[in-house]
Amino acid sequence: MTPEPGKPESLVDRERGLARTRIEYLRSQIAEHDTRYYVLDDPIVSDAEYDGLMRELRVLEERFPDLVTPSSPTQRVGGKGSELFAPVEHPSPMLSLDNVFSTEELRAWLGRLQRAVGDDLDFVCELKIDGLAVSLVYQNGVLVRGATRGDGRVGEDITANLRTVRSIPARLLGGQHPSMLEVRGEVYQPISVFLRLNQELTEANERPFANPRNAAAGSLRQKDPAVTATRGLSFWCYGTDPGAGRPASVHAERHSDDLEYLRSVGLPVNPNIERASTQAQVAAYCAKWQEHRHDVDYQIDGVVIKVDRYRQREDLGATSRAPRWAVAYKFPPEERTALVRRIAVHTGRTGRVTPYVELEPVHVGGVTVTSATLHNEDDLRRKDVREGDTVIVHRAGDVIPEVVGPVLEKRPPGTPVWAFPTQCPACGTPLERKPGEADWRCPNRKACPSQTVEWLCHFGSPEALDIEHLGYQTVTALVERGWLVDPADLYALDATQLVQLPGFAKKSAENLLDAIAASKQRPLWRLLVGLNIRRVGAHVAQLLAQRFLSLDALAAANLEDLQGVEGVGPEIASAVHEWFRDPENGALIKKLGRAGLRVKDEPAGGPAGPRPLDGKIVVITGTLPTLSREAATALAQKAGARVTASVSKKTSFVVVGQEAGSKLGKAKEFEIETIDEGEFLRRLGRVVPRPQE
Ligand code: NAD
Repeated sequence: MTPEPGKPESLVDRERGLARTRIEYLRSQIAEHDTRYYVLDDPIVSDAEYDGLMRELRVLEERFPDLVTPSSPTQRVGGKGSELFAPVEHPSPMLSLDNVFSTEELRAWLGRLQRAVGDDLDFVCELKIDGLAVSLVYQNGVLVRGATRGDGRVGEDITANLRTVRSIPARLLGGQHPSMLEVRGEVYQPISVFLRLNQELTEANERPFANPRNAAAGSLRQKDPAVTATRGLSFWCYGTDPGAGRPASVHAERHSDDLEYLRSVGLPVNPNIERASTQAQVAAYCAKWQEHRHDVDYQIDGVVIKVDRYRQREDLGATSRAPRWAVAYKFPPEERTALVRRIAVHTGRTGRVTPYVELEPVHVGGVTVTSATLHNEDDLRRKDVREGDTVIVHRAGDVIPEVVGPVLEKRPPGTPVWAFPTQCPACGTPLERKPGEADWRCPNRKACPSQTVEWLCHFGSPEALDIEHLGYQTVTALVERGWLVDPADLYALDATQLVQLPGFAKKSAENLLDAIAASKQRPLWRLLVGLNIRRVGAHVAQLLAQRFLSLDALAAANLEDLQGVEGVGPEIASAVHEWFRDPENGALIKKLGRAGLRVKDEPAGGPAGPRPLDGKIVVITGTLPTLSREAATALAQKAGARVTASVSKKTSFVVVGQEAGSKLGKAKEFEIETIDEGEFLRRLGRVVPRPQE
């Protein structure tokens, strides 16, 4: 890069170095949040916070364009498929949307469009439904397949689950239908259903969903469609596939005509969609729905503005992540006031002590909020929140509400300043705050009951070992009785102990023991997440498992080896290194191995494990039932195989579809193994029976 005029080169290099470090950090954070949001349906930061990380990354990449990589989250659609469902390649990519966050940004976007295609522009303004994007394929008017967006190119086949959504017609109305019609829309959970189901979950002592979007995503991506059917999901259709699969019989020139067509054949098209032909009309639509966002029984997080005419859309085109002919105007996060009943701190699984407020229940952004976080002591001091204050609570249609600050006019006279505790509320150990760090920590890592309970809950959580039936209360009861000190103790529990716990009978004890036993076989990366190593979340754990393949190899790795893993920066490397040097952790690993946990990945470890086709030479021939040639090739390459065009004696196996030609003959001649798509997916670690159609 050429230095900027007036700046010595070394300064530019320094800035660039700092930017690179920050970019690496932002990408790893975003990757973690993507996994939690798209795969686990369990985000831990607000959408506004996530959008802030993306914005910062985008600004840095604009400043240092040579640091942009094709895999950067700014360049691709977030999300990926889970191992639960068969992969489905979309006829044309299901892209994301670019966002604008203010009327100024919206005006700038409209201005750019005018400069690109002229003044003669019409728009369709739609509500941005906060649910899960799906693609539905109708053949001659009959629903044959439904899929999630996945990474935009390959989604998950969730046909059976989508069939349980009542507002999705199994057959279109009328007699004349295009031979193939692909429509897209959003599956959502109505707010009334969400509130009712969450109340039921809370009463049953189960964890409620964070928001209707997570509830919809979690309900739709269930192994068992019967569960999906109980979740009251609904659907709004907002368009047709912009590429192949448009209603050929209609020859519509405009999106608005297609919407009319879709409505006429019985697909649910939202009644609040409006056409607009001036900037003022677009702005008025955004303002109206920002104000009336709670007047509808589904969560909306903004407005989508789309160019109406397809010809202009084609001229504008798309980036790898989003079309240029549409934009999402995101509503600002919501705020309400609430009374603080109490301020307290909680010690988490890493010893981090977080202050939070207990509130008089308040309805914000579609859910009832009874507590909100204050992040750390500095945040609390800066905001000067006190018990008895009325505070502004901020929620961006999502998970953890935040306290913005107190309403000082409402503070009762003489309200004392709240003092941050000096001892851990769970074990009484004096708290520590290292210079330069924002958090107070309880240093009693080995014996603080709050850290132990939180760690064990995390170990059994869906993002780690995924042990069903191991809830917070069960863990607490087991820790209190001294039967659980570390996660390896879980594997020594027996039914006679469990039946002594409140709420447990023979059957529930058996269920929990079965779930614990099943967790022994989880891929290595999940165990790494469960070990509670600082800075190691799902994404980093996957990188480490892929590189080292076993706990022993990872434990033996030196700092240099760890830093050599792409995506692992110096801080992560030293946290991992340090963790494995602690003799107690060494003992824990041995104990887990003795308990029969999978401490090394086997060749078919799935996408997150080792590369199951490493070293294989693969040929793909004929038409496969669900995968295109391109998708099959990409999957094989991702799994470590070399895909070649012709069969030779060195070929490991040939994946054969319908109408395979001479390559099949060659394979027979050389006695090379031939397999079908199902077996191919199995070898990739994606064993997923396709739902019956
Ligand atoms: P997006 O949700 O901002 O916009 C694209 C999506 O909008 C489409 O895929 C579609 O599902 C939906 N949509 C709703 N109504 C629509 C309509 N009328 N027309 C067209 N599309 C419509 O983008 P995204 O890529 O799905 O997700 C990114 C966003 O998700 C982030 O901005 C953030 O808010 C959130 N997110 C949050 C976390 C977290 O940890 N909190 C993590 C990842 C993503």
